[in-house]
Amino acid sequence: MAVIAGKGIAASFRTMGIAAILISSTLFLNAAEQTTGLVPHTVSGNSKSELSDSQALKHVNDKLQLWQKRMNLVDWSIQARLVRRNALVPKTLGGIHWDRDTMTATLDVLSTSDYNLPTREMLDDMEFTVVHELVHLSLSSLPRSEASRSAEERVVNEIAGALLRLSKN
Ligand SMILES: [Zn+2]
Repeated sequence: MAVIAGKGIAASFRTMGIAAILISSTLFLNAAEQTTGLVPHTVSGNSKSELSDSQALKHVNDKLQLWQKRMNLVDWSIQARLVRRNALVPKTLGGIHWDRDTMTATLDVLSTSDYNLPTREMLDDMEFTVVHELVHLSLSSLPRSEASRSAEERVVNEIAGALLRLSKN
């Protein structure tokens, strides 16, 4: 659900792209409810993860390597980064930029500083972001348009969710 911006994007639309994950995972919505007080009597103070970005990035890189193999995307050189919320498209938890000519991509995941989840849930959500963005990358050989974006986002969420459920069984 990202807005395409920047020079030369239209000309290289088929080979370069950007995609982002919407704030739509159940985990994050639950967290949002907690922080806005819609879920009363939650214990505060011990819920937010104290993991550093470098610790979380190690987990993200492990998961990236695992899912790149599983999804047969090993030809891609993908760099993962943890970034603050203001570096992402508004209302998103992550994003990916790719260039099919060079087979390189940058996968952005929300920084630990901007997560309000306990460690386990935060790491699971980060893994969801990784898988979600890799599904976008898998679909990047298909034509895209403004009209196909919201449909793509729904499909990507369905596939990413199914893959993760299978992997946990
Ligand atoms: Zn997405």
